[in-house]
Amino acid sequence: MATISKAKRDRILKSWGSSCIYCGCKLDQENFTVDHVIPLSSGGSNNISNLVPACIECNRKKANKTIRQFMGKDKEKLKQIEDLIRDKMDSEFLRITEAIHRDTDQINILLQQIKTMSPKKVSIEADIDKCAQAIARSGQEISKQINGILHLEKEWENSDMYLEIMKKITSDTSVVAKSIRTVTDLAPRKKKMVSELKTLIQKASYTTDRINSNLKFLQSYAKVLSNI
Ligand SMILES: [Zn+2]
Repeated sequence: MATISKAKRDRILKSWGSSCIYCGCKLDQENFTVDHVIPLSSGGSNNISNLVPACIECNRKKANKTIRQFMGKDKEKLKQIEDLIRDKMDSEFLRITEAIHRDTDQINILLQQIKTMSPKKVSIEADIDKCAQAIARSGQEISKQINGILHLEKEWENSDMYLEIMKKITSDTSVVAKSIRTVTDLAPRKKKMVSELKTLIQKASYTTDRINSNLKFLQSYAKVLSNI
């Protein structure tokens, strides 16, 4: 038999009220064993859904038998034990189903938040891109104008051409300055949004994993229920 962790054993003992499911005797760490409702040899698992607490004596007698084979002659006792297991499984089933519902609602909220935030992030990125292009364009323009000044004839400082070029340079410089201010304002907003989106996606992925593992639990409970 594969080892069942101490934590799992403790959980089983506690959740079944610390008594042997078959004879009802009080269990402590000394005489407590974990029994498989569907025996491992019949395809039962070590999943908590298939495990019940039993005393050493009952577990030894039951061995690889199903509960029905073990209790066969005592119909009333068999029904009592099966009802006990069924009730317990039903409440676990309900608990897990409710957890799945809660997680599904949570996923919907998260997806809604991601859906609202994504276009905002895209639009901030587009604005930053526009600014970067404006900076590059104006930068090129400025160096072109400066080049123009250098090629002017003598006495250029007083020429209309010079004043015209200076006016253009001033205007391009102000475009660069304005774009840099905008990027400085947008960059931290983008960073914050990216990190918020990352957190939302992580939460959604974690919740999806939990739904999947709960669905597996439901499957294993269903398997045990259909076998008793
Ligand atoms: Zn017992």
